[in-house]
Amino acid sequence: MAQEIMLDPDQALDLLERLPPRGLAERRPLLECLGRVLAEEVRSTVDSPPFAKAAMDGYAVPAGEAPAGGTPGSEAPGAGALDTYRLVETIAAGDIPRRTLQAGECAKIMTGAMLPVGADKVIRVEYTEEADGTVRVTTPEPHRNIIERGENLKAGEPVLAPRVLRPQDIGILASLGLPSVRVALPPQVGIITTGSELANPGEELRPGAIYNSNGWQLCAQVQQAGCPYSYYGVVPDDPDALAEALSRSLEECDVVILSGGVSMGDLDFVPRIIRQAGARIHFHKLAIKPGKPTLFAQKAEKYLLGLPGNPVSTFVIFEVFVKSLLYHWMGIAHRPVTVRARLEGSLRRRDAERLEYRPVRLQDGAARPLSYHGSSHLNVLAGADGLVRIERGQKELEEGTELDVRLI
Ligand code: AMP
Ligand code: MG
Repeated sequence: MAQEIMLDPDQALDLLERLPPRGLAERRPLLECLGRVLAEEVRSTVDSPPFAKAAMDGYAVPAGEAPAGGTPGSEAPGAGALDTYRLVETIAAGDIPRRTLQAGECAKIMTGAMLPVGADKVIRVEYTEEADGTVRVTTPEPHRNIIERGENLKAGEPVLAPRVLRPQDIGILASLGLPSVRVALPPQVGIITTGSELANPGEELRPGAIYNSNGWQLCAQVQQAGCPYSYYGVVPDDPDALAEALSRSLEECDVVILSGGVSMGDLDFVPRIIRQAGARIHFHKLAIKPGKPTLFAQKAEKYLLGLPGNPVSTFVIFEVFVKSLLYHWMGIAHRPVTVRARLEGSLRRRDAERLEYRPVRLQDGAARPLSYHGSSHLNVLAGADGLVRIERGQKELEEGTELDVRLI
């Protein structure tokens, strides 16, 4: 049976990349763009800074030594000179200087203020003494303390490429004077949790029941990926109820995620219901642990995912596959954040047929594997900083191995 073939997880990601991204975008005000995917290449419209400015509070002075009482023996013009200057102007941030500095003159200048014509350096205020309109340099100023026009950025230079916007990116966009940018339209994601044993938080746990954590976890994961979601709640393991929930969610959403009911049990109706809905199955079963029974299907332009019910499986498959799908839809490749760390203790396993992700804690540059009982052991993630990847065919990772920890 073709379904019994486990697809390699990296091939599953390749398959994703070959799907057409949706490519729809909208212009939104900056403050609505945090966590959303920038949908354009942003170039600077301005030189930054737009004028040469003071990097410090102090006194702007012309090039060379001041003749008005220069300290005997002071060195070459400029750096290190101990001079005296006549104060001719005070320039605050936002002011336009009125005077051109002549030899022996200085202007009091505030951080961020425009340099006057003729100024070559700013002597920080701490290195000076001012009295009766005269400024004496008490400590040689080794730096120019000037930020030149366009030093940080020139008009026309590329600044931001499509990416998930962080607070610093919002700041950068504002610094370019842009009140809004184009961001990708995210898919509307439907979430269905299946399982007759599930009770929702806040409900009483009758015998045989467990709390539904996947529904809430998936809503949070989708939200964190910057996508709106509709949660269809818990659907019992009943084909008709499931078919109805699926049909509704397919009408209302672009991507539908189902949790549970996707493996080989008598009551695992999800694969059948997905087929009956007219969807084409891209794969059912990944060579991955946890998360082997994962199913990915497509109906016209809509995508369906069946994730195994065990909560760590759901979490990991969302992290390593679904997130990539959502970002691909929005036009970018998902780049997980990894840190390099040394494995503390060794990791062994008997069966190396699948790629495996294990939770680790990071401490002092070391990755410590957490005692992990398997894919139902959700609370292990409370102490986990990331996941390490054990490749297919690899039975052991030795103590001290340098590896990439994928932060979660
Ligand atoms: P399934 O994939 O439906 O066979 O479920 C595998 C295991 O995950 C079973 O022990 C289920 O009770 C559990 N499970 C299924 N759905 C959820 C859920 N929404 N929250 C927590 N555990 C679940
Ligand atoms: Mg189930």
